[in-house]
Amino acid sequence: MRFADEEFEPYVLSLPTSTAIPLVCDSPHSGVIYPADFLSCLPISVLRSGEDTYVEELWKALPSVGATLLAANFPRTYIDPNREVDDIDPNILAEPWTSELRPTEKSRLGHGLLWRRARDRDIYDRKLWVAEVENRIGTYYQPYHEALEREIENVYKRFGVVWHLNLHSMPANSYEVLEIDTDQPLADFVLGDCDGTTCDPTLIGIIEDFLKGRGYTVARNDPFKGVALIARIGRPEENRHSLQIEVNRALYMDEDSYEKSANFWVLQKDLTQLCGKVAEFAQGLI
Ligand SMILES: [Zn+2]
Repeated sequence: MRFADEEFEPYVLSLPTSTAIPLVCDSPHSGVIYPADFLSCLPISVLRSGEDTYVEELWKALPSVGATLLAANFPRTYIDPNREVDDIDPNILAEPWTSELRPTEKSRLGHGLLWRRARDRDIYDRKLWVAEVENRIGTYYQPYHEALEREIENVYKRFGVVWHLNLHSMPANSYEVLEIDTDQPLADFVLGDCDGTTCDPTLIGIIEDFLKGRGYTVARNDPFKGVALIARIGRPEENRHSLQIEVNRALYMDEDSYEKSANFWVLQKDLTQLCGKVAEFAQGLI
């Protein structure tokens, strides 16, 4: 994690290091560079709870199996690339927005395009100016979306099919964060396909079987179904498939110190093998 005084590259794009296959992956929430104009009133130790810390590192084998991996550098608490651009709570703004806003349930929970809350605390003791929000969109959000779309379209044009994995991690207390009252424990992995609409179930079954075979618990769409990115990309009837994969942070890190746990390396090894499995599928070998 670091603070930046100046604008920085919005993402890191890792291209295939072996023969390219129709697999494009992205990690929209693992960015840890905090812009100087964030001006949050929260301590960084609380702000960081929004990060999907280390996710791009857990999946770093992807380029070696022929996949493309896009990873955001900016933190999602600053601006969240997995939201539609009009998912803004008007109460966070100091002045009226320039067009109609459509805040969703995510905005209500304080986790819209611009996060309002982290660990039940206010991120700002001020309101945001329209110009600073527009700058966040133009400098970080938009370039991230353009890069992802470009990679997806390149692969689709070349292969006539694209498989997209949208990679995340989730806090161990996710049910609480989402205000869902349940006794059931959070799974180790949650596979989200917007309730069966964004991805061929064959791939989901292969990933689920692999993870269960390694002793992990796996849920589908509970409690995360996937948000803006997979909804936009996943159109199975056009051979465009998009799946969200959430991994429980308790499996690989300490959520208070943000340090990797000893199990990080075990999980990374398992995911490296899963990358190989998904690559075989994307090449039509299984
Ligand atoms: Zn995430």
